[in-house]
Amino acid sequence: MCPVADAHCPPLALIHHPGYRIALPEKHPFPMDKFSVLKRLLDRQLADCASAVDWVTPQPAEEDDLLSVHTRRYVHEFLTGSLSAQAQRRSGFVWSEALRERSVLAVGGTLTTVREALKRGLACNTAGGTHHAHPEAASGYCLLNDIGVAAHQALEDGVKRALIVDLDVHQGDGTALIFADEPRVFTLSLHAESNFPARKQQSDLDVPLPRGMGDADYLAVLERTLEEVLARVRPQLVIFDAGVDPHAADRLGHLELSDSGLYHRERHVIQRCRAAGAAVACVIGGGYDRDIEALAWRHSQLHRAALDVWREAHGQPALFGPPG
Ligand SMILES: [Zn+2]
Repeated sequence: MCPVADAHCPPLALIHHPGYRIALPEKHPFPMDKFSVLKRLLDRQLADCASAVDWVTPQPAEEDDLLSVHTRRYVHEFLTGSLSAQAQRRSGFVWSEALRERSVLAVGGTLTTVREALKRGLACNTAGGTHHAHPEAASGYCLLNDIGVAAHQALEDGVKRALIVDLDVHQGDGTALIFADEPRVFTLSLHAESNFPARKQQSDLDVPLPRGMGDADYLAVLERTLEEVLARVRPQLVIFDAGVDPHAADRLGHLELSDSGLYHRERHVIQRCRAAGAAVACVIGGGYDRDIEALAWRHSQLHRAALDVWREAHGQPALFGPPG
C-alpha cells in the first residue's frame, strides 16, 4: 500500500515532456539521453507512491517569451535556423529543427515550473538551467535562457523579489547579464573559479570556489551565503539551478562533491527557501558524467529531496533521505 495516500499531503508538481530528449549525432558530447533516463528512474523510484507526485506536461514557450530576454535578431536567427557557423560552434550544437523544438519546449517547461511553484509552493522541472545563454548569443550548450525567461514572466505576473540560486559548477553568466540592471531579480552563483566561462559576468553575488572543494567546505559556504542572501533579498520566488556538475565524477566540474553531499545541498536549499516563505522552482542544470545512468540518478536526487521536504512540511515522513 502506498504510504503517501494522505489527504493532508497534496502531490508534488514535477514537470516533464518526452520531447526534452532528442537524438543527437553519434559521439556528440552533450548527454542528451539523461532527460529520458531521469524520467524512467523517477517513475521506478516512485512506482509504489505514484500519487505522491503530479506530472505536469508543459507547452512550448512562445516567441514573445523568448523576446523578453533575448534580442530580436538572435531569436529570429535561432528560430529560422540562420545562425552563423561560428554562433553554432559557440553553442556546442549544430542547429536542427529538432533542436529548436526541444529548446523552446525546455523553456516552456521552466515557465510551467515557475507557474506551478507560485501556485503550489514548490515544483521541479526535469530539464532546464541553460544559464550560459546570453541575450544575443548561445553559449556552452545553452541556446535559450529558460531561467531568465521564467523569472521575467514571474515579474510580469506580480512577483516583486525573485532570487536565482545557481549552484551549477559553472558561473551563471548569461542570467547575470540578463538581470544586471533588474533590481527585482537577485542573481547568486556559487561556481568553480577555474572553470568555464573564462570571462565571468557579474552576478549580484558571486562566490568563486577553489578547485577540489569537497562536501563539508562547500556546504558550509553555501549555508552561510544562503542565509545572508535570504535575509537581504526576502524573495517571493526562488529559481534553483541544481546542476550536478560539482560532483567529483563529473568530467566538466572542478569540485569534489559526493552524491550524499549533493542530496544534502538540494534538500538544504529547498528547505531553507521554503521556510523563508519563498515559492521554489527547481531546474536540473548541468551534469556531464559519461555514465548516463549514474548521471540521471544524480539529477533525480533533486526530485527526491524536494519530495522529502514537501512531505515533511505537510507533516508526513520523508520517503527517501540521503543515499547509502
Ligand atoms: Zn555547468
